[in-house]
Amino acid sequence: LLVIVGSANTDLVVHTPQFPVPGETRLGSAFQLSCGGKGANQAVAAARLGARVALVGKVGRDDFGQRALANLQQEGLDTTHVYQHPEAATGVAIITVNAQGQNTIVVAPGANHELLPADLDQAVTLLEQAAYLVVQLEIPLPTVLYLVAWARRRGKRVVLNPAPALPLPDDVYHDLFLLTPNETEAEALTGVPVRDADSARAAAQVLRERGVRNVVVTLGAQGAFLHTATYTGLVPAPHVEAVDTTAAGDVFTGALAVALTQNLDWERAAHFACQAAAVAVTRLGAQVSAPYRHELLAS
Ligand code: ADP
Repeated sequence: LLVIVGSANTDLVVHTPQFPVPGETRLGSAFQLSCGGKGANQAVAAARLGARVALVGKVGRDDFGQRALANLQQEGLDTTHVYQHPEAATGVAIITVNAQGQNTIVVAPGANHELLPADLDQAVTLLEQAAYLVVQLEIPLPTVLYLVAWARRRGKRVVLNPAPALPLPDDVYHDLFLLTPNETEAEALTGVPVRDADSARAAAQVLRERGVRNVVVTLGAQGAFLHTATYTGLVPAPHVEAVDTTAAGDVFTGALAVALTQNLDWERAAHFACQAAAVAVTRLGAQVSAPYRHELLAS
């Protein structure tokens, strides 16, 4: 069982030829409402690849919360510990996309920021069944740190996708089995500008010296750089026609966690994650772009 502790959001997306300037109103074209949030995206990606997955998170007792829950259940996830906060709104991301495909995003975390250590205590029977615990930084940092400390005491492996980037306390690193930053996040955590395999190696080295057991830096179209106990090197991404890279990192982390639960070695696991993320970037949308196992490119 893979247990993912993280955010569930509703994405409200509007396409507009040009972004409005402050005070301006513009007409947009299509409006789309979709389920998102890094925790939910990673959980759905993992479930579509065939893993048994439970999400621990919090939504509101509102329409978006109902929708998010229904969606997660439809994807086959265990939602017994997706709590509903009585007052807080379900997290939303207000996204605008212009004609050039650039976006602006404002996130109102709402109920995600009400996921507290006490909620993890409630979920302890579930957490105990986890082969791996996967967590991101869209829930309160104290909750993340509480999970990591619990996992250390129980000997559970934690995968931290440090997104969005936040400074982390020094003593958390040695309790992480795996850290999966993208270029920006790797730079934010280490101060090393990351652009390619060499700079990713340098940043990953810093993180491993802080005590992280394994580091995988995602490098967009270049693939992923692994700095692990048994393998160090670049695993290249397949060449694909990218149409929308939203949630590529979420699909990557979800897929990598699935591969780890199947005991693949690091190089194979990263290859599997690159294959899954490559399919996702050929499709529009975030969570909906995550591939099922039978859709992975051959090789
Ligand atoms: P994030 O989505 O967090 O910014 P990245 O951009 O590094 O993360 O993408 C995560 C992973 O998705 C990459 O390691 C790679 O495997 C895959 N990916 C992203 N962009 C592309 C692309 N243009 N072509 C192929 N694979 C891609």
